Amino acid sequence: MEKIENYIGGELVQPASGEYFDNINPATGEVYSQIPDSDDRDVHLAADAAKAAFPAWAAMPAEQRFEILMRLVSLIERDLESLALAESIDNGKPVSLARTVDIPRAVANFRFYATAAMHLANESHDTSLPGGGKAINYTLRHPIGVAGCISPWNLPLYLFTWKIAPAIAAGCTVVAKPSEVTPMTAYLLSKLCIEAGMPAGVLNIVHGTGPKVGSAIVGHKDIKAISFTGGTKTGEEIARTAAPMFKKFSLELGGKNPNIIFADCNYEEMLATTVRSSFSNQGEICLCGSRIFVERPLYERFKQDFVERVSALKVGDPLDPATDVGAIVSRQHFDKIMSYISLAKEEGGTISTGGNAVTAETLAGYFIEPTVIEGLPHDCRTNLEEIFGPVVTIMPFDTEQEVLAYANAVRYGLSATVWTENLSRAHRISSLLESGIVWINCWLLRDLRTPFGGVKDSGLGREGGFEALRFFTEEKNVCVKL
Ligand code: NDP
Repeated sequence: MEKIENYIGGELVQPASGEYFDNINPATGEVYSQIPDSDDRDVHLAADAAKAAFPAWAAMPAEQRFEILMRLVSLIERDLESLALAESIDNGKPVSLARTVDIPRAVANFRFYATAAMHLANESHDTSLPGGGKAINYTLRHPIGVAGCISPWNLPLYLFTWKIAPAIAAGCTVVAKPSEVTPMTAYLLSKLCIEAGMPAGVLNIVHGTGPKVGSAIVGHKDIKAISFTGGTKTGEEIARTAAPMFKKFSLELGGKNPNIIFADCNYEEMLATTVRSSFSNQGEICLCGSRIFVERPLYERFKQDFVERVSALKVGDPLDPATDVGAIVSRQHFDKIMSYISLAKEEGGTISTGGNAVTAETLAGYFIEPTVIEGLPHDCRTNLEEIFGPVVTIMPFDTEQEVLAYANAVRYGLSATVWTENLSRAHRISSLLESGIVWINCWLLRDLRTPFGGVKDSGLGREGGFEALRFFTEEKNVCVKL
């Protein structure tokens, strides 16, 4: 059985404890590899390696870092098929999704930031002094040092590289931890880093649990910045440790995103996209729209067509190219989603389609039917708490004001989707929605130059574009009196 290894100081190494734990294929429920049970000793080794590598890496011209990162890009592209297969087996997502979304996005992340680092410019200000005379102020940006990057299981390599790429491109060295639930593609990436000639210690990957490895990264004195994506509760814990140490941190947290559908929308496009925005990746995307509000005149028609399309989705073996909805990532997460379906029923909801675990001889793992629930008020627990699975609610509304109040009633504010052909309304509602991202007549249309992140309990800071590069730098103002 394959043993995953840590990647520290340019080498693949065993954890200090010598202990491993099981990695389970969620489609079969069977153990298929072993994960290092690392602890603070491994994090210390990784931080030391990163600290030693930092001066040379930070001093290297961006063009040379670009060359190394682009070699890595070529290798990920070369191995796209095997990485997609590994992602699908590890996470339960359809291999077709991993092949077209996850792995290509990892490529795009490295390519984007390898290039962006060569274009990062610093400001200068021409300052007029009160009594006459001039000064020039200019900003210097130095890589901040060793950065800690911690990522979740839903888009494993996609989100792992979304953090690592800007950190390394900016001249930082990194100690990173993928989710213990989906460590495989991060391990494969470490092998590709060795092949690409990444200098030892620039990227260090420590596998293991959040409480042992994640918290050791956050609390390490030599790790100056933390970039985290995961649950809101974990984000709170990280902030509690990092804030008194005056670390920089960026938190991409949970969501409970509204999908607002007005009667004047482009119906066919809305319907097809709403099926995707509800159930892509088993609904395990932080940007999925889980609360669907439909203007009353369209409600019955939408309900009928949506339920028909959702019932036709094929739940099945993630490796089957015909599968639309794969396995839920873990037994624990499966139980959580099923408990929310029970809660929805207790709260008076009606299951319009789905609602059950899928069991078949060939599907021994954790599968749940795509589930649509109606008849719930906007402020019940089912509609306020993050479920993060193939479960959506549908609700009618009458006025713009009313739906805005519903949409904004949750503690989260990551993304929102609005369907309308009324241009003025689209702009008006976009400015009033409490969320970091608003998609009008589309969903998950990403441009890596744009600011990405949430408001309220969905997080702090923005990833994407030059902002992510700046996050990994320390700014200094130099004032020269002329
Ligand atoms: P978790 O918060 O449980 O875990 C995220 C990462 O943090 C994992 O690597 C985890 O390790 C680690 N971790 C756990 N505890 C600690 C700790 N005390 N200190 C440091 N690190 C820790 O989230 P999930 O993996 O369950 O991911 C799902 C969540 O992520 C959802 O809430 C989802 O909305 C959110 N998310 C947000 C996105 C955004 O961009 N805003 C994008 C994607 C997901 P381990 O796996 O070993 O427990």
